[in-house]
Amino acid sequence: MEKDFSIADSMTEKGFGDIHLYHCKETGLMAIIAIHSTHRGPAIGGCRCLPYAHVNDAISDAMQLGRAMSYKAAIHELPHGGGKAVLIRPDNIADRRAYFHRFAECVAQLNGRYITSVDSGTSTDDMNIVLESTPHVLGYNREEAHYSNDPSILTARGVKHAIAAAVEHQLQRSLEGIRVAIQGTGHVGGELCRLLVEAGATVTVADIDRARAEQIAQTHGVNVVDNEVILHTACDVLAPCALGGIINPDNLSQLQCQIICGAANNQLSDNRLDQELAKRNIVYIPDYLANGGGLIFVASNHINDSDVVMLDKVDAMYPRVQHILEQATAQGITPLTACNAIAEANMG
Ligand code: NAD
Repeated sequence: MEKDFSIADSMTEKGFGDIHLYHCKETGLMAIIAIHSTHRGPAIGGCRCLPYAHVNDAISDAMQLGRAMSYKAAIHELPHGGGKAVLIRPDNIADRRAYFHRFAECVAQLNGRYITSVDSGTSTDDMNIVLESTPHVLGYNREEAHYSNDPSILTARGVKHAIAAAVEHQLQRSLEGIRVAIQGTGHVGGELCRLLVEAGATVTVADIDRARAEQIAQTHGVNVVDNEVILHTACDVLAPCALGGIINPDNLSQLQCQIICGAANNQLSDNRLDQELAKRNIVYIPDYLANGGGLIFVASNHINDSDVVMLDKVDAMYPRVQHILEQATAQGITPLTACNAIAEANMG
């Protein structure tokens, strides 16, 4: 538990609009909906359902994640603010339908100021239940969707563009022959591997689940290494696509890449590490910039964009990353600092 956590102080510090807390004895629902900003449009952000030791931890998580969504929406110029729902998962959800119906009523009460979606611990089936009570939900099963119901495909497409832009800026090369080490061969990492191989890159993969990495390696004809060595593998680009906090003070000095650009959220254990990376001539492409393809997918679904329009929006990743890198170079600041400044300006 965060003992000294003050919601009011944290709201002021992080610039939060409103935070809602809901409890329902009958269903066991304890929900937090944190709305960071609605300046650009309705707050958008997934709904996680995880156990938490203390409600303050859940509120803190919802606030941190909701704020990050504002930055992500703003940097990609989407008509949305950021928000997040966190459901404190009880030991046993006796009636999942009733539980998500109750959550849907909470979302409905906000009259469209917050749009929910899938996140850790929730599924498209859960969102289908939410849809029965409120239209302010995405990430449910859409039979008509062309790009399946899986945002990972477009997240990977965006990451590939971000890598290509960073390689062009930093190394003045195309992806042909560029060595990329991907950590995590799940939904995004697997598709990213396919796209990079298609573009002529030389890819090495690893996953904590060795069998999964080997299967992807076999499918795409790439190298596989132990998960323990992927971060220290000599490469041009390290693409973290597994979990957060993967770049930390303990492994910083062992990195052997020139660019870090991947899909995982919160890749740096502390954002100040971007300065340390810069000192080592490693360009860190901010995670919320590189992995925005998934949010573009859900935002496009919300307004029924055609596939062509949606893909155009994801493909805008390349010039966007280029612009941010140019700004960073011109001003002598890190890409993360440049990116944050542009996102904050876009937030208004
Ligand atoms: P996933 O669960 O499909 O894949 C994650 C993979 O990472 C799995 O294969 C897992 O075995 C592996 N993994 C887990 N812990 C590991 C570790 N310690 N070392 C090495 N491998 C490990 O998830 P995903 O949808 O591919 O997402 C990957 C990352 O990108 C996550 O951090 C996610 O939050 C982030 N992200 C995903 C999307 C999206 O559209 N799916 C969008 C934005 C951000």
